[in-house]
Amino acid sequence: MSNDIYLYNRIMGKHGDFNMWFVFPGPESFALSSLGYMWLFKAIDSEEGVNVERVYDDLKTTDIMFSDVNLIAFSISFDFDYLSVFKFFEKYNIPFLSNDRGEDYPLIYAGGPVITSNPEPYKNFFDFFVIGDGEDVNTEAINLCIKNKNLSKNEKLKILSETNGVYVPNFSRTVVKATKKLSECIYTPVISENSFFKNTFIVEVERGCANRCGFCLASYINLPIRFVPYEEIIYAIDLGLKYTNKLALLGAQVTAHPDFEKICRYIHSKIKGGENIELGVSSLRVDSFKKEIVQTLVDAGQKNLTLAIEAGSERLRKLINKNLSEKQIFEALDVAVDCGLKGIKFYGMLGLPTETVEDIQEIINLASKIKSKYKGFDVSFGFSTFVPKAHTPFQWFGREDEKSLEKKSNFLKKELHKLGIQSTVTSPKWDYYQAVLSRGDSKLTEFLIKVYEYGGKLGAYRRAAKDLNLNLDYYATENYSYDKELPWDFIEMTPGKEFLIKESKRLLEG
Ligand code: SF4
Repeated sequence: MSNDIYLYNRIMGKHGDFNMWFVFPGPESFALSSLGYMWLFKAIDSEEGVNVERVYDDLKTTDIMFSDVNLIAFSISFDFDYLSVFKFFEKYNIPFLSNDRGEDYPLIYAGGPVITSNPEPYKNFFDFFVIGDGEDVNTEAINLCIKNKNLSKNEKLKILSETNGVYVPNFSRTVVKATKKLSECIYTPVISENSFFKNTFIVEVERGCANRCGFCLASYINLPIRFVPYEEIIYAIDLGLKYTNKLALLGAQVTAHPDFEKICRYIHSKIKGGENIELGVSSLRVDSFKKEIVQTLVDAGQKNLTLAIEAGSERLRKLINKNLSEKQIFEALDVAVDCGLKGIKFYGMLGLPTETVEDIQEIINLASKIKSKYKGFDVSFGFSTFVPKAHTPFQWFGREDEKSLEKKSNFLKKELHKLGIQSTVTSPKWDYYQAVLSRGDSKLTEFLIKVYEYGGKLGAYRRAAKDLNLNLDYYATENYSYDKELPWDFIEMTPGKEFLIKESKRLLEG
């Protein structure tokens, strides 16, 4: 029996004549911890006349029968989520290609950051896509589907293609990304002990990041940065704390909120008043490591924090637009130690454009200085390898080749190990395929189906590419010229391609 707490007035026993499955391509625990997915679920669930069910990878049976479903929505957050989508299609005998699904099938659509960035590798699997912030577009699209329920599939899609933020591969020419004004606060609508972040109430403080690091999708697809009004955040915090003591503040750059210190002060005053609050924040920027903020986090039970420095050398940090000096890193560490934090995990990236062995050596030098200055303080490093993402200034840069990345990764891990520092590096092989997907196009349709059929592991990618004689380096490692037409150019978003070209050149010139 589930003890889930719904923080909105749920209309129980709703018998709408429009039935929806809202699918999360992963287990229930991840779905319950995904703020975006759960907030959209709440919005759909609050629509009169819509009967919506959450569907996960590990759900045994659904309450709504497939034959009664009118519309299926997928929330896609990660490049490899398509494998779960195919598994779902197979489970319910749904043809993989949208053009093979006749009038007997419900419309199937997808949204999420991966889709907003570049839906082209998936364009033949879905009937339509939501591009950008899903809150309003999603509801509008659902209402259009309800209103036109009796029209043919093509007629419905034609109408949908005229909606801002909706991309219908068969009809749309250009699509303007939907951007939501954050006048209300988005928070966990269902507190659950089954969530990956058990009983945690998550509050979105801001959306996007003004720093605009050259590789950063989270920043570029969410421009301009938007802040939730202070009063809305406080209202949400008070609401959540009635039901749980676990609170998390979410955003790509939470500390950029103009009232962030005031928010911390509010939470701190509650802690000082005797409330037992456990507070977490997503990764902090080093230059926003202020005593008041860190002390609030420590007093709220936080023992370790994650700091994204992205690159080891000041040269490379400047090149990627992360203008962060070593002095600032040490000032942040002083604050961390003073406030009683037990440790810090640094996050960085290998294989960034122009990276040399000297830049890698700088990471080791930095780690060594930190280790000898802060004895007993727990320091660790986590790295991923550079993946070019659509709609960023680095979208034209290919990845470094796999062997060279493996070499850098092994060298780094070995040297950090010698210093007694734990480190992890994501697999350059998997990151290569992530790059294939992130700069992919519709020519990957057959390839993706084959990868799934071959089991979805690394060997499956190699085998499928060989079968189809596909040159995957074209997507992952080739540098593109600035005048090349890119598969995702038809999506219009701020600040636009001209700006990205200028910014890319500016960053590269240093
Ligand atoms: S600071 Fe972090 S979130 Fe902001 S643009 Fe850079 S990498 Fe992205």
